Amino acid sequence: MNGDARLAALRDRAREWGDQFRAAAPELDRDPDAVHRYLDLPGVRHLSTYGTPREYGGRPLRVGPYAFEGTGAVEHVVVLEELARGDAGLTLAAPGPSMSGVLVDKLADPAQRAEYYTRIVGEPTWTCFALTEPGHGSDASAMETTLRPGADGRLVLSGRKRYVGNAARAQLAVVFARTGSGPLGVTAVLVDTGCAGYRAEPLDTLGLRGAQLGAVTLDDLPVEPERVLGRHLSPVRRGMWACVQVFNRLRPGVAALALGIAGAAHAYVVEQRPAARGAARDRIEELGHRIEATRSLVLRAAAEVDATGDGHLASAAKARACALAEEVTLAGCELLAPAARASHPLLDKLARDARGVEFMEGTRNIQHLNLFPGLRAGRATG
Ligand SMILES: Cc1cc2nc3c(=O)[nH]c(=O)nc-3n(C[C@H](O)[C@H](O)[C@H](O)COP(=O)(O)OP(=O)(O)OC[C@H]3O[C@@H](n4cnc5c(N)ncnc54)[C@H](O)[C@@H]3O)c2cc1C
Repeated sequence: MNGDARLAALRDRAREWGDQFRAAAPELDRDPDAVHRYLDLPGVRHLSTYGTPREYGGRPLRVGPYAFEGTGAVEHVVVLEELARGDAGLTLAAPGPSMSGVLVDKLADPAQRAEYYTRIVGEPTWTCFALTEPGHGSDASAMETTLRPGADGRLVLSGRKRYVGNAARAQLAVVFARTGSGPLGVTAVLVDTGCAGYRAEPLDTLGLRGAQLGAVTLDDLPVEPERVLGRHLSPVRRGMWACVQVFNRLRPGVAALALGIAGAAHAYVVEQRPAARGAARDRIEELGHRIEATRSLVLRAAAEVDATGDGHLASAAKARACALAEEVTLAGCELLAPAARASHPLLDKLARDARGVEFMEGTRNIQHLNLFPGLRAGRATG
């Protein structure tokens, strides 16, 4: 079967969904709680169960003669780019497995998976992935949140997390904590956010406001040992190792979000300046070519993740796509008018969102640090 035609069909479908996202964007940017009004959009419904295995009620997405199981990074970047072209904020605001689902797939035992996915398919369920802490973002291994044995055979989770997407909406959270020192002393647990001891407050942010980043306080939250993810695996296969695996898998998707923002800004400038001439036209064309080139890199990075799990090329793709998103949105402001950010609210929003995506799953500096060993080992030549 022709892979190009298959992905083109998927892209067309996701573009329709993205157009609907665009209509929701201004309201969600003003009021992140408005997400509840958009749960019936087909793109949101797709994200809300995306990747759920068939044995737990997941159903493939069917587009014409093609079926998409939701397991491949390539499929996912195609969908995410088009949804983010509509609105990256709503893409991140949607309920569903998102980052936490990748960790669950990697670490959860059958009982944990059954509980998790039963809730995901049962009703719109927000999840969050709580890793970052105040003062420990790029260096997640310095985390201070602890998971300690309690008096009654249960464990006790204590600490603070920050900038966690959907934290205040989430019904289920995966939370990283320390059980000991070093990379093997990190563990993730599945938390029902209705438990006493979980408190999350939304943070006011400039960009990607739909994602409603939150600050989480874990106040001696009791955790049943059965909720420790990867408890049936060796310590080497859980904790920071699993976290890195999740990031490798998701990074092309973050690159695709950035690419969608860049594409939206570019399309807007083309629409607003159809008669651009000379240097302005050359600049608009050049940015368009670079978006195409970056799309090709993002797709190759996703194919590499699907084929080998290696995330070095994905680091290059994420760094490049985020830089491009910032460049295109800011160039768009210059190309339209002095003070374009005031007179073109969509472009202003896209510029804010571009800055936000830079911080997701590692900033550009961190991607460069990650990429370097891959280049030396010849694994990031794509
Ligand atoms: C939209 C959005 C969604 C997010 N979602 C989540 C989520 O769901 N869950 C979660 O846990 N976190 C999430 N985060 C948090 C994100 O992971 C952190 O913001 C990120 O890791 C950076 O951490 P920090 O903000 O503490 O910045 P810092 O780590 O303090 O970095 C500040 C600056 O220093 C630079 N820097 C840091 N270390 C180095 C180094 N070693 N070498 C060179 N430069 C360096 C960085 O590049 C950056 O420019 C999200 C953030 C955003 C913006």
